[in-house]
Amino acid sequence: PARLFSGMQPTADSLHLGNYLGALVNWVAMQDEYEATYCVVDLHALTVSPDPEALRQRTRVTAAQYLAAGIDPERSTLFVQSHAPEHAQLAWLLNCLTGFGEASRMTQFKDKTARFGADQQNVGLFAYPVLQAADILVHDADRVPVGEDQRQHLELTRDLAQRFNARYGETFVVPDVHIVAATAKVNDLQNPGAKMSKSASSPNGIIELLDDPKKTAKKIRSAVTDTGTEVRFDPAEKPGVSNLLTIHSALSGESIPSLEDRFAGKGYGHLKVEVADVVVAALSPVRERALELLADPAELDKLLTRGAERARERASVVLARAFDRVGLLPAP
Ligand code: ATP
Ligand code: MG
Repeated sequence: PARLFSGMQPTADSLHLGNYLGALVNWVAMQDEYEATYCVVDLHALTVSPDPEALRQRTRVTAAQYLAAGIDPERSTLFVQSHAPEHAQLAWLLNCLTGFGEASRMTQFKDKTARFGADQQNVGLFAYPVLQAADILVHDADRVPVGEDQRQHLELTRDLAQRFNARYGETFVVPDVHIVAATAKVNDLQNPGAKMSKSASSPNGIIELLDDPKKTAKKIRSAVTDTGTEVRFDPAEKPGVSNLLTIHSALSGESIPSLEDRFAGKGYGHLKVEVADVVVAALSPVRERALELLADPAELDKLLTRGAERARERASVVLARAFDRVGLLPAP
């Protein structure tokens, strides 16, 4: 089977409904078709200088939520990036192959420096897309399912793989850009014109997978809706209601036109109550399983150790190949 690689940063105390519907649900489904590797990219998270204790906890929480959502550690490789040092080692080779101007043109970096000033940013953030390229290439991944916002970084990954292969001979698999039309793009409940985001959303705008069901229901009941009363899918005119319809449909499988029909003449209140029920029913088992896993961190760590061993078996071979190609002496 083709090889697939994907990861998320441990940058929040819990993943949210957007991460679940936009990424995790797909990851779980793709395990059947691909030899999949799923990574908690903790080295990437260091670019925002997290508190050490928070980073430790978030790394475990993220891994527990992958598992709770249905990532099967027997079928797929699940591990923490820093446990496979080959990622950072390959990143150095790729740094030496990346142009300064090329890295400067990455929009994620440009956006952050434009918003907060270049002096507030570190070299890690600048080199972030290169580490991401190393993550992918060190696993010989053919496919990388990501959202549209990652397209530019994936193009860089392909460019670096091709450049390396042209200069040093066939070494890396050049991965496909596989932009997943996200199952659903979930927006902020309080600011439905913007996406639900770990870093940008307010606490009430975001449904965390670890929120208790009462809190989840309350956040949905207090979601910002739109003027008027008609339940209709119209993201431009009715972003709030449309977001609730999207969430319902993605979790329940009922089509949006069918929801519009059923809620015709009923008003927003009814819709919110039902969306809250649907979300709580879908997320409760995920939450409970994640809490169980987190209650036994030693067991969770054991699982991650096994994942890291598997990841390193593959990564060490690719890294040795690359080291040799560039002229590094064989390690003693
Ligand atoms: P940050 O604010 O730190 O960028 P984030 O909430 O955007 O965090 P990421 O870690 O960047 O989350 O993304 C993890 C995965 O979740 C990616 O595959 C991304 O496409 C997906 N994702 C993130 N937010 C949403 C959303 N609101 N709707 C659908 N998918 C999302
Ligand atoms: Mg993001």
